[in-house]
Amino acid sequence: MPYIREIIEDGHPTLRKVAKKVEPREILDPLFQQLIDDMFETMYDAPGVGLAAPQVGISKRLFVMDIQDEDHPPAVMINPKIELAEEEVEMTEGCLSVPGKVGEITRFRRFGLSGLDRNGEKIRIEGEDLLAQCLQHELDHLNGVLYIDKARNIRPAATDEEREIAQAASAEAS
Ligand code: ZN
Repeated sequence: MPYIREIIEDGHPTLRKVAKKVEPREILDPLFQQLIDDMFETMYDAPGVGLAAPQVGISKRLFVMDIQDEDHPPAVMINPKIELAEEEVEMTEGCLSVPGKVGEITRFRRFGLSGLDRNGEKIRIEGEDLLAQCLQHELDHLNGVLYIDKARNIRPAATDEEREIAQAASAEAS
């Protein structure tokens, strides 16, 4: 049974580490599969649209995401590599590890990653807007980077829209 893990917050050293590559043979290990299930459970509970392993204290290169869009089903990305990065735009962003805050950040509007899925098969995920933003945000987590390192005008979420972005770690192009 999947269980909800604790989401660590800014100030915890694990969020600042460059996460380790996952060994392909590790992926089918029941403990690793449990980690993936737990990460989904934790993300949906938060709720959020993406969650990286370092956010639950595991310094490994994987994240889960579900942007609640029927064109983009829930996905697991392991050992991601950048395949596409186009058109810089300003976006409003939040993070489950920096609760209650939002800021403005420059992201690529179209972005793509390749890597492995939870069966160890090669996958590629690419898209635009929220999907692109989520991929960039989660990739940053694997490199020890938080959005607040790059964002401007970081502030307590004040409007309903900002609170939604801060809580759901979702976002909207501005
Ligand atoms: Zn985050």
